[in-house]
Amino acid sequence: MIDLRSDTVTRPSDAMREAARDADVGDDVYGEDPTVNELEARAAEKVGKEAALYVPSGTMGNQIAARVHTDCGQEILVDEEAHVVKWELGGLAQLSGLQVRTVDCGARAVPTPEQVRAGVVAEDLHRPGTGLLELENTHNSRGGVAIPTERIDAAADAAHALGVPVHLDGARLFNACVALGEDPTRAVENVDSVMFCLSKGLGAPVGSVLAGSEEFVSRARRVRKLFGGGMRQAGIVAAPGLLALSNVDRLAEDHENARALAAGLNEIPGLSAPEPDTNIVVVDSSAAGMTAAELVAACEERRVGCGAFGEYVTRFCTNWDVTREDVDEALDRIEAAVGVV
Ligand SMILES: *Cc1c(COP(=O)(O)O)cnc(C)c1O
Repeated sequence: MIDLRSDTVTRPSDAMREAARDADVGDDVYGEDPTVNELEARAAEKVGKEAALYVPSGTMGNQIAARVHTDCGQEILVDEEAHVVKWELGGLAQLSGLQVRTVDCGARAVPTPEQVRAGVVAEDLHRPGTGLLELENTHNSRGGVAIPTERIDAAADAAHALGVPVHLDGARLFNACVALGEDPTRAVENVDSVMFCLSKGLGAPVGSVLAGSEEFVSRARRVRKLFGGGMRQAGIVAAPGLLALSNVDRLAEDHENARALAAGLNEIPGLSAPEPDTNIVVVDSSAAGMTAAELVAACEERRVGCGAFGEYVTRFCTNWDVTREDVDEALDRIEAAVGVV
């Protein structure tokens, strides 16, 4: 199987398995796991924030951030295609009692300052008030778009001017940084908190990081416990996470493979894919008269993994376990898959 469903399907390297075996551990709920403490310190430094918290998943990181930044009943302003709205089981409502106000950010993938000002609601007798602006970089559902820092800054500045804090869902933050040649600390300089995944593209088996001010992280630590994310000898999984932090540069390879994949897909009659910024390729198969579900099934029969993203839109995601040769082989198989209709 050439598995292009996600960059989460990678298997940990031998070095990661050894690091897990040899990790120095303690009870992290007591703050006594030296490996987790080291990971949190190094992760905070990597994004230039005061502190960081190791969490089991990106979803939990985003949900903790929403809970910490807001009060029950407030609104969260967010792009209508954001992961936190589409793929997190309505957690904002279930876990934090938030009302979601969406904006259509289109291909820009981040709200303009005007959209922020129009979307923020001031608290009064009738209106709940906006508690948080949430941004996403890279933007998954919009095709792995790498958003330039100036656009993040412009949205964040508009929110801050209205007293609204900003959280960045940076599940693939380092993909954005590598694509843009941006320094991670600069990329998140003007957001109050950021979540990034160690388990996507960087090869770790488990885990994400939530970073922000000391005060934010100490409140986040309590909410992590509340949400059931307090882990004991978590150094076993944090140790591969530490190695993952050193794997950022390798993401360029995934981006190159994604560009090759998109170029090849465009040569298959009936398929069209925009040139990707990062490691996510979205392909439209409507001209081939094939729905995404049909394309996914036909690819699976030929042992290529991909995922339906819309009625006629399918996502392919390059990752560490997929080589350039695999991409070429996958293209041959996809061409055969499209030929069956
Ligand atoms: C994958 C993803 C998440 C959630 O991460 P999990 O570790 O799968 O819970 C959040 N946001 C974005 C943009 C993602 O792609």
